[in-house]
Amino acid sequence: MGLGEDTYLLGGRALLPGGEFAAADLRLRNGVIAEIEPGLRPASGSAVVEVTGFVMPGLIDAHTHVSWAGREPMPNTWAGVVGRARGNRLRMLAAGVTTIRDVGSLDGVAFEPSGGPACFCANQIVCAVGGHGTETAEAWAGLPKLAREARGADAFRAAVRYQADRGAHLVKLTLNAAELEVTPEEAAAAVNEAHRLGRRVACHASIPDAIDIAIEAGADTIEHGNGATPAQLRRMAAAGIVLVPTAWIFERFLDEARRADAGAVGERAWPPPVEIWEARVAAHREVVSDAVAAGVVLAAGTDAIEGCDPDSLADEILTLHRLGLEPIDALRAATEGGAAALGDPGRGALREGAAADVVVFEASPRDVVRDRIRPAMVFQGYCGHVKAYFYVQA
Ligand SMILES: [Zn+2]
Repeated sequence: MGLGEDTYLLGGRALLPGGEFAAADLRLRNGVIAEIEPGLRPASGSAVVEVTGFVMPGLIDAHTHVSWAGREPMPNTWAGVVGRARGNRLRMLAAGVTTIRDVGSLDGVAFEPSGGPACFCANQIVCAVGGHGTETAEAWAGLPKLAREARGADAFRAAVRYQADRGAHLVKLTLNAAELEVTPEEAAAAVNEAHRLGRRVACHASIPDAIDIAIEAGADTIEHGNGATPAQLRRMAAAGIVLVPTAWIFERFLDEARRADAGAVGERAWPPPVEIWEARVAAHREVVSDAVAAGVVLAAGTDAIEGCDPDSLADEILTLHRLGLEPIDALRAATEGGAAALGDPGRGALREGAAADVVVFEASPRDVVRDRIRPAMVFQGYCGHVKAYFYVQA
């Protein structure tokens, strides 16, 4: 499809805001959905695509790392890293992911021109000196850094300004690893500076003390949220803080630990023993169901890092379903939930004026979720960019 031309998608059942499907045709133009209603009549000369099945907004991976994901180790050259990020993005798009939120990449790589999903990126991780985000520094020596370390409120503000100056769309702040690493004053300084600059803040908080600090500081999203108590989740719901539970990655680590235990992965310090992962996974399952009960908006994010495939959003959606979400709600965590994490109402929903990011599934949402079925078609055309994309699975 081209800009300035109409593209019609005729004959599908479209997901309407609210979660119901209804017969509706779509007209896409200039990167947005220009019309959505049943019985549209294409003008002669416009492109017409007959679709069968379920038409949904393009999927959003709310927690990814474009340069970090991949089965292979990190390349040791900049060109290699850029190529890895580009390949990852193209794989994501083919899986129906039309928008991503990159919450931490080697300095600059997320800004390299690339095909694939629209990318809202944090650029580097902002963290304490030696904090969570610096673990790979030695292994990736010689490459631009993944994390920008800070100590004290002023340094945290400066680290936030650096990301904004680089062009970051949001700020990623990590508050803890095994223990708390950032003070409430530092977190508040970083969040306030980001908000002053019009950037939302994604807070990595995976212990209850860090979750308290993130809520208190006014974070927009909490990443992982391990150990969140029902009271914390109620505060998050009241404050409109989105939870990105990244449930699949923990299940995956447990699976990996079990295989390592059985001798399948060999001698490695990582992952920690099976019992630790079993306890973590069990606790996190509870967090997800408590979050649903508390009315917290959930966003699907893979946290695919090294060793993981970048196009694994279907695994997170399936995991959310297994943890109790109805299939359609698990999918909506990857559409409306992702848009809520981004703070962008122009995405994640099929409505007039929204981005023309559309996927077509030829199976029911239930089967799509349970069997991790990929979309048969992916349309992408985002506003403000001279870019339009139409992809049909081979
Ligand atoms: Zn992450």
